[in-house]
Amino acid sequence: MKKLALHWQILLGMIAGVIFGFIMLQFDGGRGIVIDFIKPLGTIFIKLLKLIAIPLILASLVKGISDLKDISKLSNIGLRTFGLYLLTTVIAITVGILVVNIIQPGESISNETVASLTQTYEGDMSTKVENAIAQKTKGKLQFIVDMVPSNIFEASSSNRNMLQVIFFALFFGISLLLVKPEKAKPMIAFFDSLNEIILKMVDLIMLMAPYAVFALLAALVVDTTNTDIFSALAMYALSVVIGLSVMVTIYVTAIKVYTKKSPSFFFKGISPAQLLAFSTSSSAATLPVTMERVEEHLGVDSEVTSFVCPLGATINMDGTSLYQAVAAIFICQALDFDLSFGAQLTIVLTATLASIGSAAVPGAGMIMLVIVLESIGLPADKLAVGLALIFAVDRPLDMCRTVTNVTGDATVAMLVGKSVNKLNAPETKNWDDHYKE
Ligand code: ASP
Repeated sequence: MKKLALHWQILLGMIAGVIFGFIMLQFDGGRGIVIDFIKPLGTIFIKLLKLIAIPLILASLVKGISDLKDISKLSNIGLRTFGLYLLTTVIAITVGILVVNIIQPGESISNETVASLTQTYEGDMSTKVENAIAQKTKGKLQFIVDMVPSNIFEASSSNRNMLQVIFFALFFGISLLLVKPEKAKPMIAFFDSLNEIILKMVDLIMLMAPYAVFALLAALVVDTTNTDIFSALAMYALSVVIGLSVMVTIYVTAIKVYTKKSPSFFFKGISPAQLLAFSTSSSAATLPVTMERVEEHLGVDSEVTSFVCPLGATINMDGTSLYQAVAAIFICQALDFDLSFGAQLTIVLTATLASIGSAAVPGAGMIMLVIVLESIGLPADKLAVGLALIFAVDRPLDMCRTVTNVTGDATVAMLVGKSVNKLNAPETKNWDDHYKE
């Protein structure tokens, strides 16, 4: 029997999950059933994806570098990747600033709403502010120091240390290129085989994706309270979503112009990763799928994918930086805090750094927003009020910005791939052949 393509299966799973969540809310005890019996499936799915993230980065990066055969190619890819990551981030923030200045969502929110939101959420905010301040007081170059692990086993023991694992894999891969070929051969064969096996694990995990997103979204629906607030913050949420959509349009335009691949080719290839990003709010959890889709469905060679995607998941967050710009300016508008042109430029700078520093996990962007708000001189008392103001809609916006984060990484992978002649016709001509019977 002909099966539906994977992205349709996932989309159906998501829609069914939302409907199921709403139905269960109508029954006494329905919420409990979803949390106790449905949600675990989603949680297991996310754990499985996270389980393979570190070995995947290690295997694919070492294999990718050894395939390059010479170090100058790596620096070539590296420079292009960093350059494009920086460029797309700055574009994203600029788009955010333009949209929020045109729509002015902060002006449409009444003082009473500000007061009631503050009252409801201010308590939750103190830990977020403390976390962010702890990050900030670490010293200017601490983030570089933190990138270098002192023990590879310790580094690989937490997904939060992804940059450290990337560092080790790069170092290891480069050294592998420098030893005699006959000595390197067994190691290359080992990582090659490891990489294949892990990609197969991604395939297998993805078999449960449609059911898992059903569980994740049903749980999200029953967990969401206080939907009235959504309408009070609708203009703000709309500004973020418009900004994110503009960004995605910029990506597909760049791909069309530079690689001549059509938007439908791109979306068909990457949409399962986008849908997972939406359902999990985590680019780190989505990473294995992003890599598989970019390599096997968008046709970017593994040398490029293995470098660009893991790095992008950790340091390139266009959606997050756009959201931080919109949120920062919205808060200032709502709290009548005047922002000069200079302050808006400061936002560009700090949001770029904050998006590099944000972890690829749910809600991280909001914590780093504190740093952006501090840099424009928002006083501490207003800061907590500001965060309280946007907290209620943070989760849905997190889902949307994570989609943009992942789409941005895939776009850069395609552009870099094309620029170094590593963009092929995808191996699988028929979409989702793997998933069909
Ligand atoms: N959840 C986002 C991600 O993982 C980060 C954020 O903006 O909170 O990409």
